[in-house]
Amino acid sequence: MSPTSHNAPIHRRGLMLILSSPSGAGKSTLTRDLLQDRTLDLTLSISVTTRSRRTSEVDGIHYHFKSRQDFERMRSQDDLLEWAEVHGNFYGTPRPPVEAVLSEGRDMLFDIDYQGTQQVLKRAARDVVTIFILPPSMKELRARLERRAEDAPDVIAKRLENARHEIARWTMYDYVIVNEDIQRALGEVKSILIAERLRRTRGEPGIERFVKGLLDEK
Ligand code: 5GP
Repeated sequence: MSPTSHNAPIHRRGLMLILSSPSGAGKSTLTRDLLQDRTLDLTLSISVTTRSRRTSEVDGIHYHFKSRQDFERMRSQDDLLEWAEVHGNFYGTPRPPVEAVLSEGRDMLFDIDYQGTQQVLKRAARDVVTIFILPPSMKELRARLERRAEDAPDVIAKRLENARHEIARWTMYDYVIVNEDIQRALGEVKSILIAERLRRTRGEPGIERFVKGLLDEK
């Protein structure tokens, strides 16, 4: 065996990185920035939703916008890894793309709520890493929702009301980040991802082969 042969990357299983937060805590910006960093090689899970499209959103990029009937059909065919009702609309994660990405040993990023997180944890806890993003204050959360100005005032009021309920779920998560400064929060998410990728249990068969090679080296 050549001395450099152990330097090949050690194969590991792909992981599911879940980001949850109340609306307005900056999760969409974080998600966008994480995806733009090509060195991270993250694939976004694009959810299906029955919510109507915002003007800034593109079908197939931000969500797959579906009728209630189509959503229910996907759900009954077990095409959804998880699903939930959030703010009066249905949201769900299509299963086949997740399985395809993970089987390549690559990682998937999810922007889903705590109800979906609970379901994914039930199905595949050892491959899941969960991060909860908090706003620095309720005042700032309200300001961010109002600045976005894409939702009607009654929708904003509903989202603020739900935020309290969602924030109370922080104890379910592996990591908690307060998003006061987006660059710092981004750095924190990246650090978590890099460390979690190195967790021994994710790459055990590959590490075992690597170590065997090391010890067999003459
Ligand atoms: P928004 O309507 O602002 O895009 O999303 C509202 C909430 O739905 C967010 O908290 C987001 O994380 C959550 N969400 C989006 N997609 C999914 C999904 O596929 N499953 C679940 N459980 N929640 C989702």
